[in-house]
Amino acid sequence: MYDILIKNGAIFDGTETEAKKADLAIKNGKIIAIGSLKNEKAKTEINADNRFITPGFIDINNDADHDLSLLKMPEAENLLRQGITTIVGGNCGASLAPLISGSLLSLDKWVKTIDFNISWQTMKEFLNFLTKKQLGVNFATLVGWGTVRADITQNQFRPLKKEELEELKFIIKSSITQGAFGVSFGLGYNLEQAVGLTEIQAIAQVIKEKKAYFERSEKKGSRAIARGPYLAFHLRNESEGLLSSMREVLEVAGKEKASLEISHLKVEGKDNFDSFPEALKMVQKVNQEPALLSQDGPELVNFDIFPYDYNVESLYLILPEWLAIGGREVLLKNIHDGIVRKKLIEDMKKKKYLYQDLIIADSGERWWFAGKTLEAIAQDFNLSLEDALLKIIELCEKRVLVFVKSLSLENVEKGILSPYSFVASNSGIYNLNSGEKGTWVHPRAFGAFPKFLNDYVKVKKLFSWEKALHKITGKVADKIGLKDRGYLKENYFADIVIFNPDKIKDKASLKNPFQYPEGIETVILNGALAYQKGIFSHERLGQILRKD
Ligand SMILES: [Zn+2]
Repeated sequence: MYDILIKNGAIFDGTETEAKKADLAIKNGKIIAIGSLKNEKAKTEINADNRFITPGFIDINNDADHDLSLLKMPEAENLLRQGITTIVGGNCGASLAPLISGSLLSLDKWVKTIDFNISWQTMKEFLNFLTKKQLGVNFATLVGWGTVRADITQNQFRPLKKEELEELKFIIKSSITQGAFGVSFGLGYNLEQAVGLTEIQAIAQVIKEKKAYFERSEKKGSRAIARGPYLAFHLRNESEGLLSSMREVLEVAGKEKASLEISHLKVEGKDNFDSFPEALKMVQKVNQEPALLSQDGPELVNFDIFPYDYNVESLYLILPEWLAIGGREVLLKNIHDGIVRKKLIEDMKKKKYLYQDLIIADSGERWWFAGKTLEAIAQDFNLSLEDALLKIIELCEKRVLVFVKSLSLENVEKGILSPYSFVASNSGIYNLNSGEKGTWVHPRAFGAFPKFLNDYVKVKKLFSWEKALHKITGKVADKIGLKDRGYLKENYFADIVIFNPDKIKDKASLKNPFQYPEGIETVILNGALAYQKGIFSHERLGQILRKD
Protein backbone atom coordinates (compact mmCIF):
# COMPACT_ATOMS: atom_id res chain seq x y z
CA MET A 1 0.00 0.00 0.00
CA TYR A 2 1.48 3.32 -1.09
CA ASP A 3 0.84 6.66 0.59
CA ILE A 4 0.04 8.47 -2.64
CA LEU A 5 -0.42 7.14 -6.14
CA ILE A 6 -0.60 9.57 -9.06
CA LYS A 7 -2.13 7.91 -12.10
CA ASN A 8 -2.07 8.67 -15.82
CA GLY A 9 -0.06 11.90 -15.70
CA ALA A 10 2.52 13.15 -18.16
CA ILE A 11 5.72 12.92 -16.15
CA PHE A 12 8.47 15.49 -16.69
CA ASP A 13 11.34 14.09 -14.70
CA GLY A 14 13.34 17.33 -14.28
CA THR A 15 15.81 16.58 -17.07
CA GLU A 16 15.37 18.04 -20.53
CA THR A 17 13.69 14.93 -21.87
CA GLU A 18 10.10 14.86 -23.06
CA ALA A 19 7.29 13.78 -20.79
CA LYS A 20 6.33 10.13 -20.47
CA LYS A 21 2.90 8.92 -19.55
CA ALA A 22 3.21 6.89 -16.36
CA ASP A 23 2.01 6.39 -12.80
CA LEU A 24 4.05 7.50 -9.81
CA ALA A 25 4.00 6.02 -6.32
CA ILE A 26 5.05 7.66 -3.06
CA LYS A 27 5.76 6.11 0.31
CA ASN A 28 7.50 7.45 3.41
CA GLY A 29 8.31 10.77 1.80
CA LYS A 30 10.02 9.36 -1.25
CA ILE A 31 9.20 8.39 -4.80
CA ILE A 32 9.35 4.61 -4.82
CA ALA A 33 8.04 3.61 -8.22
CA ILE A 34 7.40 5.15 -11.63
CA GLY A 35 5.79 3.08 -14.35
CA SER A 36 2.59 1.20 -14.98
CA LEU A 37 1.02 0.84 -11.53
CA LYS A 38 -2.61 0.52 -12.52
CA ASN A 39 -3.44 -2.34 -10.20
CA GLU A 40 -1.69 -0.90 -7.16
CA LYS A 41 -3.46 0.71 -4.22
CA ALA A 42 -2.70 3.78 -2.12
CA LYS A 43 -4.23 5.73 0.74
CA THR A 44 -4.59 8.70 -1.59
CA GLU A 45 -5.03 8.26 -5.32
CA ILE A 46 -4.84 11.18 -7.71
CA ASN A 47 -6.10 10.92 -11.24
CA ALA A 48 -3.75 13.08 -13.31
CA ASP A 49 -5.31 12.59 -16.71
CA ASN A 50 -4.28 15.48 -18.98
CA ARG A 51 -2.12 16.89 -16.21
CA PHE A 52 1.62 17.53 -16.07
CA ILE A 53 3.64 16.11 -13.21
CA THR A 54 6.95 17.74 -12.39
CA PRO A 55 9.43 18.06 -9.57
CA GLY A 56 8.61 20.94 -7.18
CA PHE A 57 10.09 24.24 -8.32
CA ILE A 58 13.30 25.41 -6.67
CA ASP A 59 13.69 29.10 -5.85
CA ILE A 60 17.41 29.85 -5.66
CA ASN A 61 16.88 33.47 -4.63
CA ASN A 62 14.22 33.91 -1.98
CA ASP A 63 13.92 36.77 0.50
CA ALA A 64 11.81 35.09 3.20
CA ASP A 65 14.69 35.11 5.65
CA HIS A 66 15.62 38.73 4.90
CA ASP A 67 12.22 40.10 5.82
CA LEU A 68 11.80 37.53 8.62
CA SER A 69 8.60 36.24 7.01
CA LEU A 70 10.14 32.78 7.15
CA LEU A 71 9.88 32.95 10.91
CA LYS A 72 6.60 34.83 11.15
CA MET A 73 4.60 33.05 8.42
CA PRO A 74 6.39 29.73 8.12
CA GLU A 75 3.53 28.05 6.25
CA ALA A 76 4.64 29.83 3.06
CA GLU A 77 1.32 29.58 1.24
CA ASN A 78 2.20 32.06 -1.55
CA LEU A 79 5.30 30.04 -2.38
CA LEU A 80 3.69 26.59 -2.30
CA ARG A 81 0.71 27.73 -4.33
CA GLN A 82 3.01 28.76 -7.16
CA GLY A 83 4.66 25.35 -7.07
CA ILE A 84 7.79 26.26 -5.10
CA THR A 85 8.85 23.46 -2.77
CA THR A 86 12.44 24.46 -1.96
CA ILE A 87 13.87 27.91 -1.32
CA VAL A 88 17.40 29.18 -0.84
CA GLY A 89 17.91 32.03 1.60
CA GLY A 90 20.97 33.91 2.74
CA ASN A 91 21.39 35.72 -0.57
CA CYS A 92 22.73 39.22 -1.23
CA GLY A 93 25.27 39.13 1.59
CA ALA A 94 22.79 38.63 4.42
CA SER A 95 21.81 35.46 6.24
CA LEU A 96 20.09 34.78 9.55
CA ALA A 97 23.19 32.97 10.79
CA PRO A 98 25.80 32.96 12.09
CA LEU A 99 25.30 35.84 14.50
CA ILE A 100 28.35 36.38 16.58
CA SER A 101 26.86 39.11 18.73
CA GLY A 102 23.33 37.88 18.25
CA SER A 103 22.12 40.85 16.23
CA LEU A 104 20.65 41.12 12.77
CA LEU A 105 22.21 44.43 11.76
CA SER A 106 22.62 43.37 8.17
CA LEU A 107 18.86 43.00 7.65
CA ASP A 108 17.99 46.67 8.02
CA LYS A 109 17.61 46.93 4.25
CA TRP A 110 14.68 44.54 4.23
CA VAL A 111 12.90 44.70 7.52
CA LYS A 112 11.21 47.55 9.35
CA THR A 113 11.93 46.38 12.86
CA ILE A 114 13.71 43.33 14.11
CA ASP A 115 11.10 42.08 16.49
CA PHE A 116 12.12 38.50 16.74
CA ASN A 117 13.75 36.74 19.61
CA ILE A 118 17.08 35.40 18.42
CA SER A 119 17.98 32.18 20.14
CA TRP A 120 20.88 31.04 18.00
CA GLN A 121 24.41 32.06 17.14
CA THR A 122 25.99 29.49 14.86
CA MET A 123 24.71 28.13 11.57
CA LYS A 124 24.21 24.78 13.22
CA GLU A 125 22.08 26.24 15.99
CA PHE A 126 20.04 28.20 13.46
CA LEU A 127 19.34 25.17 11.27
CA ASN A 128 18.39 23.17 14.36
CA PHE A 129 16.10 25.99 15.46
CA LEU A 130 14.34 25.91 12.07
CA THR A 131 14.03 22.14 12.19
CA LYS A 132 12.17 22.44 15.49
CA LYS A 133 10.09 25.36 14.27
CA GLN A 134 9.03 23.52 11.09
CA LEU A 135 8.56 25.35 7.83
CA GLY A 136 6.05 24.98 5.02
CA VAL A 137 8.79 24.65 2.38
CA ASN A 138 12.21 23.06 2.23
CA PHE A 139 14.85 25.58 3.19
CA ALA A 140 18.54 25.84 2.37
CA THR A 141 20.75 28.81 3.13
CA LEU A 142 23.95 30.49 2.14
CA VAL A 143 26.08 32.28 4.68
CA GLY A 144 25.99 36.04 4.19
CA TRP A 145 29.41 37.61 4.02
CA GLY A 146 27.88 40.98 4.92
CA THR A 147 26.20 39.51 8.00
CA VAL A 148 29.44 38.14 9.36
CA ARG A 149 31.40 41.21 8.34
CA ALA A 150 28.96 43.67 9.93
CA ASP A 151 29.14 41.65 13.11
CA ILE A 152 32.93 41.80 13.16
CA THR A 153 33.16 45.53 12.43
CA GLN A 154 30.06 46.43 14.47
CA ASN A 155 28.49 47.79 11.30
CA GLN A 156 31.39 50.12 10.57
CA PHE A 157 32.45 51.05 7.09
CA ARG A 158 36.14 50.16 7.01
CA PRO A 159 38.64 47.58 5.74
CA LEU A 160 39.23 44.54 7.92
CA LYS A 161 42.35 44.17 10.02
CA LYS A 162 44.43 41.11 9.34
CA GLU A 163 43.15 39.19 12.35
CA GLU A 164 39.59 40.19 11.54
CA LEU A 165 39.91 38.74 8.05
CA GLU A 166 41.14 35.52 9.61
CA GLU A 167 38.14 35.54 11.93
CA LEU A 168 35.80 36.12 8.98
CA LYS A 169 37.36 33.25 7.06
CA PHE A 170 37.09 30.94 10.02
CA ILE A 171 33.44 31.75 10.66
CA ILE A 172 32.48 31.28 7.02
CA LYS A 173 34.35 28.02 6.82
CA SER A 174 32.62 26.62 9.87
CA SER A 175 29.20 27.81 8.67
CA ILE A 176 29.69 25.77 5.53
CA THR A 177 30.79 22.76 7.53
CA GLN A 178 27.61 23.18 9.53
CA GLY A 179 25.33 23.06 6.51
CA ALA A 180 25.39 26.29 4.46
CA PHE A 181 25.44 25.74 0.70
CA GLY A 182 27.79 28.60 -0.11
CA VAL A 183 28.56 32.25 0.57
CA SER A 184 26.71 35.33 -0.65
CA PHE A 185 28.02 38.85 -1.20
CA GLY A 186 25.93 42.01 -1.30
CA LEU A 187 28.43 44.22 -3.11
CA GLY A 188 25.78 46.77 -4.05
CA TYR A 189 25.03 47.69 -0.47
CA ASN A 190 26.50 50.63 1.35
CA LEU A 191 28.66 48.88 3.91
CA GLU A 192 30.00 46.39 1.43
CA GLN A 193 30.58 48.74 -1.48
CA ALA A 194 34.10 49.73 -0.58
CA VAL A 195 35.33 46.21 -0.10
CA GLY A 196 37.71 45.08 -2.78
CA LEU A 197 38.59 41.91 -4.57
CA THR A 198 41.21 40.74 -2.08
CA GLU A 199 38.65 39.99 0.56
CA ILE A 200 36.33 38.25 -1.88
CA GLN A 201 39.19 36.20 -3.24
CA ALA A 202 40.24 35.20 0.27
CA ILE A 203 36.73 33.90 0.95
CA ALA A 204 36.61 32.10 -2.40
CA GLN A 205 39.80 30.31 -1.48
CA VAL A 206 38.43 29.31 1.90
CA ILE A 207 35.59 27.47 0.24
CA LYS A 208 37.92 25.92 -2.22
CA GLU A 209 40.02 24.52 0.61
CA LYS A 210 36.84 23.29 2.21
CA LYS A 211 35.53 21.46 -0.80
CA ALA A 212 36.40 21.80 -4.45
CA TYR A 213 33.44 23.33 -6.16
CA PHE A 214 34.52 22.40 -9.59
CA GLU A 215 35.67 18.87 -9.99
CA ARG A 216 36.52 17.15 -13.19
CA SER A 217 36.28 13.43 -13.31
CA GLU A 218 38.76 12.25 -15.93
CA LYS A 219 37.34 8.78 -15.92
CA LYS A 220 33.91 9.93 -16.90
CA GLY A 221 35.28 12.01 -19.75
CA SER A 222 34.61 15.68 -19.54
CA ARG A 223 31.75 15.67 -17.07
CA ALA A 224 32.42 18.31 -14.51
CA ILE A 225 30.53 18.53 -11.29
CA ALA A 226 30.00 21.93 -9.78
CA ARG A 227 28.15 20.78 -6.75
CA GLY A 228 30.27 22.08 -3.96
CA PRO A 229 29.51 25.30 -2.14
CA TYR A 230 28.95 28.23 -4.47
CA LEU A 231 29.44 31.98 -4.37
CA ALA A 232 26.41 34.19 -4.94
CA PHE A 233 26.86 37.84 -5.88
CA HIS A 234 24.55 40.79 -5.69
CA LEU A 235 26.63 42.85 -8.11
CA ARG A 236 28.29 46.10 -7.10
CA ASN A 237 26.37 48.03 -9.71
CA GLU A 238 23.31 47.10 -11.76
CA SER A 239 23.08 50.17 -13.93
CA GLU A 240 25.88 52.06 -15.68
CA GLY A 241 28.53 49.92 -14.00
CA LEU A 242 27.05 46.53 -14.88
CA LEU A 243 29.86 45.34 -17.11
CA SER A 244 32.71 46.27 -14.77
CA SER A 245 30.78 44.66 -11.92
CA MET A 246 30.41 41.51 -13.99
CA ARG A 247 34.09 41.53 -14.89
CA GLU A 248 34.98 41.67 -11.21
CA VAL A 249 33.03 38.60 -10.16
CA LEU A 250 33.80 36.60 -13.29
CA GLU A 251 37.47 37.14 -12.61
CA VAL A 252 37.03 35.43 -9.25
CA ALA A 253 35.17 32.59 -10.95
CA GLY A 254 37.87 32.15 -13.54
CA LYS A 255 40.82 32.34 -11.14
CA GLU A 256 39.39 30.16 -8.43
CA LYS A 257 37.19 27.99 -10.64
CA ALA A 258 34.46 28.91 -8.25
CA SER A 259 30.89 27.97 -8.96
CA LEU A 260 29.12 31.29 -9.26
CA GLU A 261 25.55 32.50 -9.07
CA ILE A 262 24.83 36.08 -10.02
CA SER A 263 21.72 37.16 -8.16
CA HIS A 264 18.83 38.91 -9.90
CA LEU A 265 20.88 39.78 -12.98
CA LYS A 266 19.49 42.91 -14.60
CA VAL A 267 20.41 46.35 -15.80
CA GLU A 268 18.39 49.36 -14.73
CA GLY A 269 17.86 52.50 -16.73
CA LYS A 270 17.17 53.01 -20.43
CA ASP A 271 20.65 54.37 -21.10
CA ASN A 272 22.18 51.13 -19.88
CA PHE A 273 19.94 48.58 -21.56
CA ASP A 274 22.49 47.92 -24.31
CA SER A 275 24.98 46.50 -21.85
CA PHE A 276 22.78 43.55 -20.93
CA PRO A 277 23.38 41.39 -24.03
CA GLU A 278 27.09 42.08 -23.50
CA ALA A 279 26.81 40.81 -19.91
CA LEU A 280 25.16 37.63 -21.17
CA LYS A 281 28.02 37.14 -23.63
CA MET A 282 30.51 37.47 -20.79
CA VAL A 283 28.79 34.67 -18.89
CA GLN A 284 28.80 32.50 -21.98
CA LYS A 285 32.47 33.18 -22.62
CA VAL A 286 33.53 32.06 -19.16
CA ASN A 287 31.34 28.98 -19.31
CA GLN A 288 32.83 28.01 -22.65
CA GLU A 289 36.45 28.51 -21.77
CA PRO A 290 38.12 25.14 -22.34
CA ALA A 291 39.67 25.01 -18.87
CA LEU A 292 36.32 25.74 -17.25
CA LEU A 293 34.08 23.87 -19.63
CA SER A 294 31.63 21.30 -18.51
CA GLN A 295 29.85 19.32 -21.20
CA ASP A 296 27.03 17.71 -19.38
CA GLY A 297 27.43 18.92 -15.83
CA PRO A 298 26.15 22.22 -14.53
CA GLU A 299 27.96 25.31 -15.73
CA LEU A 300 30.46 27.30 -13.72
CA VAL A 301 28.53 30.55 -13.88
CA ASN A 302 24.77 30.93 -13.66
CA PHE A 303 22.40 33.71 -12.80
CA ASP A 304 18.85 34.12 -11.66
CA ILE A 305 16.23 36.45 -12.97
CA PHE A 306 12.66 37.38 -12.06
CA PRO A 307 10.36 37.49 -15.09
CA TYR A 308 9.13 41.09 -14.75
CA ASP A 309 10.26 44.43 -16.14
CA TYR A 310 9.85 46.30 -12.90
CA ASN A 311 11.77 46.01 -9.71
CA VAL A 312 11.15 46.72 -6.07
CA GLU A 313 13.93 48.39 -4.16
CA SER A 314 14.86 50.73 -1.41
CA LEU A 315 14.04 54.33 -2.23
CA TYR A 316 17.56 55.25 -1.16
CA LEU A 317 19.01 53.28 -4.05
CA ILE A 318 17.29 55.66 -6.45
CA LEU A 319 19.13 58.64 -5.03
CA PRO A 320 22.71 59.51 -5.99
CA GLU A 321 25.11 57.38 -3.95
CA TRP A 322 26.92 60.34 -2.36
CA LEU A 323 23.77 61.53 -0.65
CA ALA A 324 23.38 58.76 1.88
CA ILE A 325 27.01 58.25 2.88
CA GLY A 326 27.09 58.95 6.58
CA GLY A 327 23.58 57.80 7.44
CA ARG A 328 20.17 59.40 7.78
CA GLU A 329 21.28 62.48 9.70
CA VAL A 330 23.73 63.50 7.01
CA LEU A 331 21.12 62.74 4.41
CA LEU A 332 18.56 65.06 6.02
CA LYS A 333 21.17 67.76 6.42
CA ASN A 334 21.97 67.46 2.72
CA ILE A 335 18.33 67.67 1.74
CA HIS A 336 17.84 70.84 3.79
CA ASP A 337 20.97 72.59 2.55
CA GLY A 338 19.92 74.88 -0.31
CA ILE A 339 23.06 74.47 -2.41
CA VAL A 340 23.34 70.73 -1.90
CA ARG A 341 19.65 70.30 -2.61
CA LYS A 342 19.97 72.15 -5.91
CA LYS A 343 22.83 69.89 -6.98
CA LEU A 344 20.91 66.86 -5.76
CA ILE A 345 17.86 67.68 -7.84
CA GLU A 346 20.05 68.27 -10.89
CA ASP A 347 21.66 64.85 -10.35
CA MET A 348 18.30 63.21 -9.84
CA LYS A 349 16.87 64.63 -13.04
CA LYS A 350 19.62 62.95 -15.05
CA LYS A 351 18.06 59.65 -14.03
CA LYS A 352 14.44 60.62 -14.10
CA TYR A 353 13.57 57.19 -15.53
CA LEU A 354 14.34 55.76 -12.11
CA TYR A 355 11.44 57.55 -10.45
CA GLN A 356 9.01 58.90 -13.00
CA ASP A 357 6.86 55.73 -12.95
CA LEU A 358 7.54 54.96 -9.31
CA ILE A 359 4.91 53.42 -7.04
CA ILE A 360 5.36 53.27 -3.25
CA ALA A 361 5.44 49.63 -2.14
CA ASP A 362 6.00 50.03 1.57
CA SER A 363 6.32 53.21 3.56
CA GLY A 364 6.41 51.79 7.07
CA GLU A 365 4.60 53.93 9.62
CA ARG A 366 3.36 56.29 6.89
CA TRP A 367 1.40 53.43 5.42
CA TRP A 368 -0.99 55.65 3.48
CA PHE A 369 1.63 56.18 0.76
CA ALA A 370 1.65 52.47 -0.12
CA GLY A 371 0.15 51.65 -3.50
CA LYS A 372 0.28 55.29 -4.66
CA THR A 373 2.29 56.61 -7.59
CA LEU A 374 4.88 59.30 -6.99
CA GLU A 375 2.93 61.39 -9.46
CA ALA A 376 -0.23 61.20 -7.34
CA ILE A 377 1.69 62.03 -4.17
CA ALA A 378 3.35 64.98 -5.92
CA GLN A 379 -0.09 66.25 -6.95
CA ASP A 380 -1.41 65.86 -3.38
CA PHE A 381 1.50 67.89 -2.04
CA ASN A 382 1.49 70.24 -4.98
CA LEU A 383 5.18 69.60 -5.53
CA SER A 384 7.46 68.56 -8.38
CA LEU A 385 8.31 64.84 -8.62
CA GLU A 386 11.77 65.50 -7.19
CA ASP A 387 10.55 67.58 -4.28
CA ALA A 388 7.82 65.05 -3.53
CA LEU A 389 10.36 62.26 -3.47
CA LEU A 390 12.54 64.15 -1.00
CA LYS A 391 9.47 64.92 1.07
CA ILE A 392 8.70 61.20 1.35
CA ILE A 393 12.26 60.59 2.49
CA GLU A 394 11.91 63.28 5.13
CA LEU A 395 8.61 61.92 6.40
CA CYS A 396 9.48 58.24 6.50
CA GLU A 397 12.13 57.54 9.05
CA LYS A 398 12.41 53.85 8.35
CA ARG A 399 13.06 52.25 4.99
CA VAL A 400 10.76 52.92 2.05
CA LEU A 401 10.34 50.37 -0.71
CA VAL A 402 9.27 51.37 -4.18
CA PHE A 403 8.34 49.72 -7.46
CA VAL A 404 10.23 51.11 -10.42
CA LYS A 405 9.73 50.23 -14.04
CA SER A 406 13.42 50.42 -14.71
CA LEU A 407 14.03 47.26 -16.69
CA SER A 408 13.68 46.28 -20.32
CA LEU A 409 11.32 43.42 -21.10
CA GLU A 410 13.46 42.56 -24.09
CA ASN A 411 16.46 42.09 -21.80
CA VAL A 412 14.43 40.06 -19.34
CA GLU A 413 13.47 37.80 -22.21
CA LYS A 414 17.08 37.49 -23.39
CA GLY A 415 18.16 36.64 -19.86
CA ILE A 416 15.49 34.01 -19.42
CA LEU A 417 16.35 32.47 -22.78
CA SER A 418 20.02 32.13 -21.79
CA PRO A 419 20.94 28.49 -21.13
CA TYR A 420 22.66 29.69 -17.94
CA SER A 421 19.72 31.31 -16.20
CA PHE A 422 17.32 30.23 -13.49
CA VAL A 423 14.03 31.80 -12.56
CA ALA A 424 13.70 33.11 -9.02
CA SER A 425 10.96 34.82 -7.05
CA ASN A 426 13.24 37.24 -5.21
CA SER A 427 10.42 37.43 -2.76
CA GLY A 428 9.44 36.54 0.76
CA ILE A 429 6.34 35.01 2.29
CA TYR A 430 2.97 36.75 2.16
CA ASN A 431 -0.66 35.82 2.29
CA LEU A 432 -3.79 37.43 0.92
CA ASN A 433 -4.10 39.65 4.00
CA SER A 434 -0.57 41.04 3.87
CA GLY A 435 -1.78 44.17 2.04
CA GLU A 436 -3.92 45.25 4.94
CA LYS A 437 -0.88 46.52 6.82
CA GLY A 438 0.05 48.90 4.05
CA THR A 439 2.56 46.54 2.52
CA TRP A 440 2.30 46.34 -1.22
CA VAL A 441 4.25 43.46 -2.66
CA HIS A 442 5.89 42.77 -5.97
CA PRO A 443 3.59 40.45 -7.96
CA ARG A 444 6.48 37.99 -8.21
CA ALA A 445 5.66 36.99 -4.64
CA PHE A 446 2.50 35.33 -5.90
CA GLY A 447 3.22 34.68 -9.54
CA ALA A 448 6.89 34.41 -10.62
CA PHE A 449 6.98 30.72 -11.55
CA PRO A 450 3.53 30.40 -13.18
CA LYS A 451 4.27 33.65 -15.04
CA PHE A 452 7.47 32.17 -16.42
CA LEU A 453 5.58 29.09 -17.66
CA ASN A 454 2.64 31.06 -19.03
CA ASP A 455 4.58 33.85 -20.74
CA TYR A 456 7.54 31.92 -22.08
CA VAL A 457 6.13 28.48 -22.85
CA LYS A 458 2.45 29.07 -23.58
CA VAL A 459 2.21 32.61 -24.96
CA LYS A 460 5.58 33.31 -26.55
CA LYS A 461 6.41 29.64 -27.19
CA LEU A 462 10.11 30.24 -26.58
CA PHE A 463 10.64 27.02 -24.64
CA SER A 464 9.43 23.48 -24.77
CA TRP A 465 7.79 22.42 -21.51
CA GLU A 466 10.65 20.06 -20.69
CA LYS A 467 13.31 22.74 -21.16
CA ALA A 468 11.38 25.28 -19.12
CA LEU A 469 10.70 22.82 -16.32
CA HIS A 470 14.32 21.63 -16.24
CA LYS A 471 15.39 25.26 -15.71
CA ILE A 472 13.34 25.54 -12.51
CA THR A 473 13.87 22.01 -11.15
CA GLY A 474 16.76 19.65 -11.95
CA LYS A 475 19.13 22.29 -13.25
CA VAL A 476 18.81 24.39 -10.10
CA ALA A 477 19.16 21.35 -7.86
CA ASP A 478 22.45 20.54 -9.58
CA LYS A 479 23.72 24.07 -9.06
CA ILE A 480 22.89 24.16 -5.37
CA GLY A 481 24.13 20.64 -4.87
CA LEU A 482 20.87 19.00 -3.78
CA LYS A 483 21.50 15.32 -4.24
CA ASP A 484 18.05 13.85 -3.95
CA ARG A 485 15.70 16.59 -5.06
CA GLY A 486 14.91 18.35 -8.33
CA TYR A 487 14.16 15.19 -10.30
CA LEU A 488 11.40 12.62 -10.35
CA LYS A 489 13.40 9.47 -9.81
CA GLU A 490 13.05 6.52 -7.54
CA ASN A 491 14.43 7.17 -4.05
CA TYR A 492 14.28 10.91 -4.56
CA PHE A 493 12.22 12.98 -2.15
CA ALA A 494 8.64 13.35 -3.31
CA ASP A 495 8.45 17.12 -3.92
CA ILE A 496 5.94 17.20 -6.75
CA VAL A 497 3.71 19.65 -8.59
CA ILE A 498 0.69 18.58 -10.65
CA PHE A 499 -0.68 21.24 -12.94
CA ASN A 500 -3.09 21.77 -15.78
CA PRO A 501 -0.99 23.01 -18.73
CA ASP A 502 -4.00 24.69 -20.34
CA LYS A 503 -4.77 26.70 -17.24
CA ILE A 504 -1.46 27.53 -15.58
CA LYS A 505 -1.20 31.31 -15.30
CA ASP A 506 -0.20 34.00 -12.84
CA LYS A 507 -2.86 36.49 -11.75
CA ALA A 508 -0.91 38.85 -9.48
CA SER A 509 -0.48 42.34 -10.91
CA LEU A 510 0.91 45.62 -9.62
CA LYS A 511 -2.63 46.86 -9.03
CA ASN A 512 -3.59 43.72 -7.17
CA PRO A 513 -0.63 41.58 -6.26
CA PHE A 514 -2.51 39.54 -3.69
CA GLN A 515 -3.82 36.84 -6.01
CA TYR A 516 -2.81 33.22 -6.20
CA PRO A 517 -2.08 31.75 -9.63
CA GLU A 518 -4.32 29.37 -11.56
CA GLY A 519 -3.68 25.91 -12.89
CA ILE A 520 -1.50 24.50 -10.13
CA GLU A 521 -3.70 21.79 -8.68
CA THR A 522 -1.58 19.74 -6.33
CA VAL A 523 1.66 20.33 -4.47
CA ILE A 524 3.25 17.43 -2.66
CA LEU A 525 6.07 18.12 -0.24
CA ASN A 526 8.22 15.36 1.20
CA GLY A 527 5.59 12.83 0.27
CA ALA A 528 2.51 14.53 1.74
CA LEU A 529 -0.17 16.82 0.33
CA ALA A 530 0.65 20.47 1.00
CA TYR A 531 -1.97 21.88 -1.35
CA GLN A 532 -4.71 20.37 -3.42
CA LYS A 533 -7.40 22.03 -5.51
CA GLY A 534 -7.93 25.12 -3.44
CA ILE A 535 -7.28 23.48 -0.09
CA PHE A 536 -4.11 24.45 1.70
CA SER A 537 -3.12 21.87 4.30
CA HIS A 538 -1.45 24.32 6.73
CA GLU A 539 0.88 21.49 7.66
CA ARG A 540 4.50 22.43 7.79
CA LEU A 541 6.02 19.68 5.74
CA GLY A 542 9.30 21.31 4.76
CA GLN A 543 12.72 20.00 5.64
CA ILE A 544 15.77 22.00 6.59
CA LEU A 545 18.49 21.11 4.12
CA ARG A 546 22.13 20.92 5.07
CA LYS A 547 25.09 20.71 2.76
CA ASP A 548 27.02 17.55 3.50
ZN1 LIG B 1 20.31 41.36 -4.00
